[in-house]
Amino acid sequence: MTDKLECVGSDLCDELRGSINTSFTLTYQSDPPSRMIASTSHLALLADLSPLTAGHLLLLPKDHHVSFGHVVARLGSEIRSLLDRVTPRYTDTFGPPTIVEHGSSSTMNAACISHAHWHLVPVDGQRLCRLMEKDGLVATVLDRMEDLGSMALDDAQYFYCFDGHSHRVFAVDRKMRSQYLRSLMGEILGIPDPLWDYSLVVRKDLLRQTMRAFQGADQPMPGRDTGRGP
Ligand SMILES: [Zn+2]
Ligand SMILES: [Zn+2]
Repeated sequence: MTDKLECVGSDLCDELRGSINTSFTLTYQSDPPSRMIASTSHLALLADLSPLTAGHLLLLPKDHHVSFGHVVARLGSEIRSLLDRVTPRYTDTFGPPTIVEHGSSSTMNAACISHAHWHLVPVDGQRLCRLMEKDGLVATVLDRMEDLGSMALDDAQYFYCFDGHSHRVFAVDRKMRSQYLRSLMGEILGIPDPLWDYSLVVRKDLLRQTMRAFQGADQPMPGRDTGRGP
């Protein structure tokens, strides 16, 4: 079951359906053969194709949606259970992850609509939020992740940041520069401008390092989530 929309300018839907002709397979040539870290009924956790740092992951719904705002109410417990499963190893290896999303609205220019995904990156989330605020974006603190659903109800474009403690959402009411959040994370990680651009440098060694760190992490475990909502 999918929304009417399919991936535009991204082949995540194809990759999740098991296509062997994707950006990932073309870029990595079977080394490694897969970038899947973990998966549940409705979610996949992948290594980012063009990582900013080791530990740069993407969490995405297997069905096509334009933002996590559309799925948090239904998949909240499944999201939490998957994150609870991987976070200890993640934190031990890379440091605590910050979760970041640039959530699309369905009315954005079709070329900009992409498959909903959360970035997990071991950067200081509070510092990231401060950089957004410095650019004039205004944060609203959410009580819980599920409140992100209100952004989808309003069909608003937003930035979401979870620093491990607080859920913050920034309404985006203007055109932001391309790969805005990537550029901020690049700044925090000390990557020279504009080498945070995913198309300029593909740090394949970092993806391989990430995959090695999670080897064996997705073995089936008794009692893993059933995909039911809260
Ligand atoms: Zn898609
Ligand atoms: Zn992204």
